[in-house]
Amino acid sequence: MHFDVLTLFPEMFGGPLKASIIGKARANGLLGVNVWNIRDFAYDKHRIVDDAPYGGGAGMVLKVDVLARAIEAVRGHSQAPIIYLSPQGEVFDQQIATELTNEPRLVLLCGHYEEIDERIREHWVDRELSIGDYVLTGGELPAMVVIDAVARLLPGVLGDATSSEQDSFQDGLLDYPHYTRPASYRGLDVPEVLLSGHHELIRRWRLKEALRRTWLRRPDLLNTKELSTEELLLLREIEEEYSAERR
Ligand code: SAM
Repeated sequence: MHFDVLTLFPEMFGGPLKASIIGKARANGLLGVNVWNIRDFAYDKHRIVDDAPYGGGAGMVLKVDVLARAIEAVRGHSQAPIIYLSPQGEVFDQQIATELTNEPRLVLLCGHYEEIDERIREHWVDRELSIGDYVLTGGELPAMVVIDAVARLLPGVLGDATSSEQDSFQDGLLDYPHYTRPASYRGLDVPEVLLSGHHELIRRWRLKEALRRTWLRRPDLLNTKELSTEELLLLREIEEEYSAERR
């Protein structure tokens, strides 16, 4: 999969795209990322990319002519969707990340300052994604969030493919608790069942703890997930445990 990123601050991408799992995926050719400087597509000798808003008011607006030129040059003849990172977009989640893995190529447009010219949004942008209900100084961190979340779902990027399958949100639940050696630390013991070597009991315990986490922390997720009979029975057990505790 390939990402083209359009930004005024390419230097922001250096660290996150070079380090760790994403850096390795790029080195192994599983993921391609090109970061383009929007300023390189400016027309005039001062390489101006923004201007004051028509109608007055605070902040600068990224210019329609520069952005259109940048998008068209980078997209070329490909059909790559143009995604604008914006606090006004659909809120990015695991489902959208999974959906985006079907695209061989994506162009991510990072805004900055007050806004981009609305004509870009209306005529060039295919989709707007927000990383949450807060406003950042630019779309660079959101673009990195999208690249990271999508890339780790690509085949071969994580050492063990099953580790993303069990992650929070992937199957509509939060992840279960994890432990590693030592089995006992300052009197804090790892749950017995995890030391038992009994695969079925461990699977059931993990499912129950994932349900418990979700029920306690994100009950909204349970409203949209289709629960299996086993999951419904485990949830009933959890609810009974809590009502017994209250009694
Ligand atoms: N005036 C805009 C508004 O209120 O919707 C906010 C502009 S913000 C200061 C500058 C740029 O940061 C935006 O154009 C966008 O690319 C990016 N940005 C800010 N918050 C974001 C978020 N939550 N998700 C995605 N991108 C965001």
